[in-house]
Parts: sequence; C-alpha cells; structure tokens
Amino acid sequence: MKRRIAVALALFVYAATDQSTTWAQAVTSPDPKATEQWEPVPEVVTPGKHDDAPPSDAVVLFDGRDLAPWETSKDHSPARWKVHDGVVTVDKAAGNIQTRQRFKNYQLHLEWQVPKDITGEGQARGNSGVFLASTGPGDEGYEIQILDSWKNKTYVNGQAASVYKQTPPLVNAMRPPGEWQTYDVIWTAPTFAADGTLKSPAYVTLIHNGVLVQNHTQLTGETVYIGKPKYAPYAEAAIKLQAHSDPSKPISFRNIWVRPLD
Ligand code: MG
Repeated sequence: MKRRIAVALALFVYAATDQSTTWAQAVTSPDPKATEQWEPVPEVVTPGKHDDAPPSDAVVLFDGRDLAPWETSKDHSPARWKVHDGVVTVDKAAGNIQTRQRFKNYQLHLEWQVPKDITGEGQARGNSGVFLASTGPGDEGYEIQILDSWKNKTYVNGQAASVYKQTPPLVNAMRPPGEWQTYDVIWTAPTFAADGTLKSPAYVTLIHNGVLVQNHTQLTGETVYIGKPKYAPYAEAAIKLQAHSDPSKPISFRNIWVRPLD
C-alpha cells in the first residue's frame, strides 16, 4: 500500500513539474505567431518560360518585331534603327533612340551583341550604352556602358558594365564578340526635393551574363564624358540606347523588357 502511494505521489510530482515547465515556457518564450505577417498578400506574377523571358507584368520594349515603343531621342520621331531577324541594329547616323514611356524605378532586362568581326580598340570597339534615365537627347543621363570588353583594354570605369566614368564593374563577365550578352538591371531613381535639391541618390544593381557586376552602386550624379558628375532634378525619364559615333560596326539588341517598380 505504501508503495502504491509512493508511486502515485511520484507520478503527481512528475505531472506537476511537467505542467509547470510547459507553463514557464509559454510565459518566457515569444509566440511565433507574433512575428507572422499575413497582409498584404504579394501580387501573383507569372514568370516567363525562361528567366530571360518577360514575366506577366513586364512592359515589353522590344520583342524582335518592331520599334513601336521607341522614338528618336533628338526629335521624338519614330525610331529608325534597323529591325531584322528578330534583332535591332544600331543606326549610328539616326542617333540615339529612347522609350516613349517614362519610368522611375524599375527592373530591366536587355540583350546585346557585338559583331563577331568587330574592329577598333579601347572605346572605339562596339561602343554603345543604356541610359537608365535619359535627361536630354544626346548623352545626357545615367549610362551603363556597352562596349566590347573582351580582351580590349580601356579605362576601367569605361569598360562594359561600368557606371560610365564613375564605377568599374566588380568583375569582367564579358562573352566574346558574336555571342549575346545579357544585362539585368535594378534601377533606383534619384529623388529631388521641391526646390530641386537631391533628396536621395540613384542606385544601380547590374547582373551581366548572370554575374553580379554592380552591387547597389550609388551614383554621384549623371554620367558625363568630361568633368565631375552632378545631379539635375527630373521626375520620370525614358530609357535610352546610345548610337555612338565610333567607326566600328554597329552592335545589335534583342529581348528588352522592363518592370516598373513604383
Ligand atoms: Mg557608351
């Protein structure tokens, strides 16, 4: 009998201890639910068949057919670069082209190709560029350099994937001439106060052929050929492609799309 009481007592103590442990845990440990967020539910975006293809919410800027979303930068007339075989080739005489639509922050995908038989050296070898925000008809704005930087020496803040004359790419991820190159860009536009002073600078992240080459790089202003960069206020801007005057053969583009992020 004594033994039975002892066992019952032991069980009671065990149960009480166990319960008090659970209760203590509940009091001292935070509730995992306290850090769960349920709203707002992210919008569904259907990705492309491959990561290079435009997702369902992208604005397609060039799908190989026509240049309807583009205009000539200097006079806003229809873009006159040559579309052929699903690509568009720069027409250096026709000048820069830019999107008719204006953007602030966005994700951009574009592909470009230097001719296999490219000639020239330094900056005169397949020079073009993508201006992430165009602030004038010429080379005003914020340029990511496009150039044949496959075994082609030039100043490093002017090689392909540089923020032109500001920041060299982290690495050189070029494919040789004749092969297609991809740029995937995350652009955070600069913002300006009502009096035109800079509120927040521009940032760019760039992935070149799947390789990170600009990592949230802060810009010090518009990219300029000569002198120090500085900011000039703008609200929304076109994306512009450069017709560079170097005498080498023109480069081509294909598969260009953008996802506005504001
Ligand atoms: Mg250029």
